[in-house]
Amino acid sequence: MPILPRTEFGNPILRREAKRVPEKFLKTKEFENLVRAMFQTCRMLGVGLAAPQIGVPLQLAVLEVPAGDGRSRDRGYPATVLVNPKIVAHSAKKVLGWEGCLSCPGMRGEVPRYAWVKVKYTNESGEEKTVTVRSFPAKVFQHEIDHLNGLVYIDRMKDFKKLITEKEYIRLMSR
Ligand code: ZN
Repeated sequence: MPILPRTEFGNPILRREAKRVPEKFLKTKEFENLVRAMFQTCRMLGVGLAAPQIGVPLQLAVLEVPAGDGRSRDRGYPATVLVNPKIVAHSAKKVLGWEGCLSCPGMRGEVPRYAWVKVKYTNESGEEKTVTVRSFPAKVFQHEIDHLNGLVYIDRMKDFKKLITEKEYIRLMSR
């Protein structure tokens, strides 16, 4: 299966609130194929992918943080399908961390995010789930849920001097 083409910053679909996924869509072959293709693209290129990033205006995202990922000091996060997710509680404080986005290749930004979030969502089988996630996976959840609400990471940045190229990011990290 080929990697899905991505929409990039500037595409209006990334600036619109995505539509709720109807429950009946979860039982279709089309949904199954879409999720499979999204996971494949996500695993090839990063740790999370939201449907608007492949031109599908639905409240749907996939994420998976491999164990031993350098950005995550914990054991990673298992493959998860988020349907109609909502942040229902979060930490008082935010922490700064570097983020990139498949819709803005070659750039990184330092973004404040809640240290932990409690998220309610429906999974691919139609089951209601509530999870509390912290550290790097919490950032991934917040980044992907933002995409479903028409937000991208630069909207959360406080200091645009911390918007840098991938090349400079690698140089910074290797210091
Ligand atoms: Zn993104």
